[in-house]
Amino acid sequence: MIFYDSSIKTPCYICEEKLLRNNLELLDYVQKQSGAKIILALKGFAMWSTFPLVKQYLKGCTASGLHEALLAREEFAKDDKTKEVHTYSPAFKDEDIDEIARISDHIVFNSPKQLFRYCNRVKNINPYVSISLRINPEVSSSPKDIYNPCGTYSRLGTTLANFDEGVLEYIDGLNFHALCEQNVDALEEVLVAFKENFSKYFKGLKYINFGGGHHITKKGYDIEKLIRIIKEFKAKYDVEVYLEPGEAVGWETGVLVSTVLDIVHNGIDIAILDTSAEAHMPDTLAMPYRADVRGSGEAGEKKYNYRLGGNTCLAGDIMGDYSFDEPLKVGDKIIFEDQIHYTFVKNTTFNGIKLPSLVILKEDNTLHVTKEFGYEEYKNRLS
Ligand SMILES: *Cc1c(COP(=O)(O)O)cnc(C)c1O
Repeated sequence: MIFYDSSIKTPCYICEEKLLRNNLELLDYVQKQSGAKIILALKGFAMWSTFPLVKQYLKGCTASGLHEALLAREEFAKDDKTKEVHTYSPAFKDEDIDEIARISDHIVFNSPKQLFRYCNRVKNINPYVSISLRINPEVSSSPKDIYNPCGTYSRLGTTLANFDEGVLEYIDGLNFHALCEQNVDALEEVLVAFKENFSKYFKGLKYINFGGGHHITKKGYDIEKLIRIIKEFKAKYDVEVYLEPGEAVGWETGVLVSTVLDIVHNGIDIAILDTSAEAHMPDTLAMPYRADVRGSGEAGEKKYNYRLGGNTCLAGDIMGDYSFDEPLKVGDKIIFEDQIHYTFVKNTTFNGIKLPSLVILKEDNTLHVTKEFGYEEYKNRLS
């Protein structure tokens, strides 16, 4: 299927509604079978023009601080009491907390100290707000330190040693977030430690939030086992269970399309694209990983080999080495697969490079450019 036409300006992200709906239907299956509530972590996917679709399935959003909470309230949970806004922050600030209290259904504190500092204040502003504490279960098999919320010296969540039983009179639930792109076995391991250390505090709680990092929509994820684990947990402790995936919502729902601007040669052939690994595909450098390019092979696998590079002046702005059946030429489109999660939410205007447009491929196969960016985005962040 040709899913873009050559008139579309690059760079652009194209999110395919049909693929997004497939993910949402799978997540909804987990909700219905297990009884868990699933909310969207805006950190990983925040294309709010798709929220009318996302809202048909998910129960709300999880936000990290004021701005994500505002977006959740405005675009997901406006005038809709059935949708929830959960707000967590590694540390809340005096200047933000009152507004957060007004627009949040759950507030999740990172430490007992923050909880004691703000609990009465947020309850005075919003008596309906539900208070939770984030636990660090100190177990994680997360593959990379930068993405391991339970690694050595982690600041995220309260360890058993730092738990203060004084929080129990204020909280309705506990949260943990310990996974990153992981299957259900990793969750099972975390739950063993979490239950061993904290189940003595579950009495009277209304919910436990299992965080994100569940790779539910990835092929091979053991969905039936997840459902079984949630059902057992709910039955044993008589609590609601929340999951708050980000990546699993946006997983393999679309692409980043770019154009070859020039091909230079310095020992190897190098194609310069109108996009940037640094500014538009940051996890390819941070994780790091090599994004798949449609129609390409590994370096050396096909006849024509190229290094793909970005259009910033950062030497390391490189997507990787790829091979193609035909030589690349100026004007060709390069399509990076699976670029809808943890991409545009992290984009920068580094080096003045243009932000990619945001495009939706609707279920009726029409393309809608929902946002184009220009010079203003660069200038307005500077003074
Ligand atoms: C990042 C994050 C999530 C979402 O994680 P994914 O890996 O995108 O599923 C959920 N909860 C918290 C607290 C997070 O920091």
